[in-house]
Amino acid sequence: MALKKLVVGNWKMHGTSADLAEVNAISLTAGTSTCDVALCLPATLIERAVRAAPGFAIGGQDCHAADKGAHTGDLSAAMLADAGAMLTIVGHSERREAHGETDAVIRAKAEAALLAGLSVILCIGESLDMREAGQAIAVVSAQVDASLPHGEAAAGGVPQRLAIAYEPIWAIGTGKVPSTADIAEMHAALRQRLVAAYGDAGRQARILYGGSVKGSNAAEIFAVADVDGALVGGASLKAADFLPIVAAAA
Ligand code: PEP
Repeated sequence: MALKKLVVGNWKMHGTSADLAEVNAISLTAGTSTCDVALCLPATLIERAVRAAPGFAIGGQDCHAADKGAHTGDLSAAMLADAGAMLTIVGHSERREAHGETDAVIRAKAEAALLAGLSVILCIGESLDMREAGQAIAVVSAQVDASLPHGEAAAGGVPQRLAIAYEPIWAIGTGKVPSTADIAEMHAALRQRLVAAYGDAGRQARILYGGSVKGSNAAEIFAVADVDGALVGGASLKAADFLPIVAAAA
């Protein structure tokens, strides 16, 4: 049976209090949608967004693997939860590249977030060089195998709080999108990795596609087998751009 779709906006380093009206507008329509919708905001906006859009799922974009400690500038998963976040992204390629995050670090962050009660959007994806070398499936499968949460964090129902976001790096913010056949091939491979990791429960974890999703291409992408939603960057900043994507998923 098809899983309920999940559409998550990633605002990256965009947004101040002036943009809370967009959060509110998105939440009002999303609240009437038949798919799940969430916005991952800059940490400075989380608490105010939760107040501006009660009941709507607001998330962070990263968390530290530790509960607390001498980590200047970082935030723990418990801090995100305390601010009202219900989810967090981990392992976005922009963090893997700019902050040197490894699969092991990302796995630890995912486990910490789950243990703090958050849902997790775990990002993986290949570079253009890897895709052109025919290594995309192998590289992304290895990434997901090494970064999926296990241990205490994976005990009991975790896959429902875990979504994988397949985001080809070359598709993020570029307007380029893989063919639907390539998306289908990758998502089928990811489903196999989830089942290998969690058994049948791995069929309940949603696999999102991310990379230049827009209102104009969302329906075609959502029709691909094993595409259970989307992680959306640029087109999530304005309700007018984001809500057509939500409508395509609903
Ligand atoms: C992202 O950064 O997660 C993303 C998918 O960005 P965009 O939609 O702008 O390509």
